[in-house]
Amino acid sequence: MSVYWCELAWLGDDRVAEGVTIEIGDERITAVESGAASPPPGANRLDGITIPGLANAHSHAFQRALRGRTQSGRGDFWTWRDAMYGLAARLDPDLYLALARATFGEMALAGITCIGEFHYLHHGPSGVPYADPNEMGEAMIQAARDAGIRISLLDACFLHGGIGEEPSAVQRRFSDGNADGWIDRVSELAEDPGTRIGAAIHSVRTVDPESAAAVAAWTAERGIPLHAHVSEQPAENSASLEVYGSTPTAVLAGAGAVTERFVAVHATHLDDADFGILGDAGAACCLCPTTERDLADGIAPADRLRSAGIELALGTDSHATIDLFEEARAVELDERLESGERGRNPASILLDAATRAGHACLGWPDGGRIAPGAIADLVTVELDSPRLAGTDAASAIPSLVFAASGADVRGVIAGGQPIVREGEHVALDVAAELDAAIGAVWESA
Ligand SMILES: [Zn+2]
Repeated sequence: MSVYWCELAWLGDDRVAEGVTIEIGDERITAVESGAASPPPGANRLDGITIPGLANAHSHAFQRALRGRTQSGRGDFWTWRDAMYGLAARLDPDLYLALARATFGEMALAGITCIGEFHYLHHGPSGVPYADPNEMGEAMIQAARDAGIRISLLDACFLHGGIGEEPSAVQRRFSDGNADGWIDRVSELAEDPGTRIGAAIHSVRTVDPESAAAVAAWTAERGIPLHAHVSEQPAENSASLEVYGSTPTAVLAGAGAVTERFVAVHATHLDDADFGILGDAGAACCLCPTTERDLADGIAPADRLRSAGIELALGTDSHATIDLFEEARAVELDERLESGERGRNPASILLDAATRAGHACLGWPDGGRIAPGAIADLVTVELDSPRLAGTDAASAIPSLVFAASGADVRGVIAGGQPIVREGEHVALDVAAELDAAIGAVWESA
């Protein structure tokens, strides 16, 4: 058993407690008690504020190699996608393992202890499967293990280049040919204590309704999360309306995909009925505002989603930046710019999206909380940085959400084990690994 004493700890909602003692046995929190003015004998002291581990509910790890290489210059989502496909064409399992390990290391440094990896880069060049057809997915699982964080591998079905279109050369690396091929492959993936297997329908652009129904049925048998990109771009909606006569959300609902296990990623351009479909089903939405603004997608209607009873999670998606505090505040601040109104999404709700709700939508309902029985993932943010100095218990959660940087994270415990100490990863030289992996990716022919 290990014992930690936190100067301040966030216990959910608006409850920031002082002098909180947290006991950990194995991988779980066994006791939480507040009000101890000083650490009990033998306790490890955590100065600053301690919050649950952050969940990054939407990631494509390889896209970290695009940072700084696509942000400048004219274009739109579709020209960015061409650049992204150019990167995807370069990767093999070794390069991808190195890149993902470094990227997950960067996440750990920013307080992320659980990742939802939306994984569609499955096969070798021209779509020829590797000897182990899950080699790329296994590389993601290994990368998370190396970085000390938990992973939900959301293996994505991706079959078509666009509605009714053949996959392009690089897209063949994503495709299993048909839904049965996808099911055969993902059925071989195994869980372990740090790994859960979930599923994804890449989008209605790339998976037809019949195949989406097969994927949904497979997840229903297992009771596992099902994620999909939904209405990220207006062109996706118009293509769906033209061919199917309904929105992407309605198409997926018709395929039986929209349930309480469903997560609509982006949900930027929903029509009025879509809110009801998602809300009535008890589905969640994962917003990725730093990517959505980078790709000129639009502003997700966070307040309206929440009013429809839809829980929000957060993701760094393309990894334009990796900082869940930035994602959290962007949800509210972007909406302020559009609405002319402040405070629709309270700080505690945004931090809940980054912690408890994110874990829940990845299939870890026992994560993202500081409470007995929860997984022992703890993130400590020191409050003496220039950004956060002057913060007290009452202002701590708004300060974290609206002013903190991932670089303010000083300590991270995942499953009871320290993975970041004094702002450094205990196992990885993250910056050096990123530099080497990204260099190798762009040098590879
Ligand atoms: Zn995505």
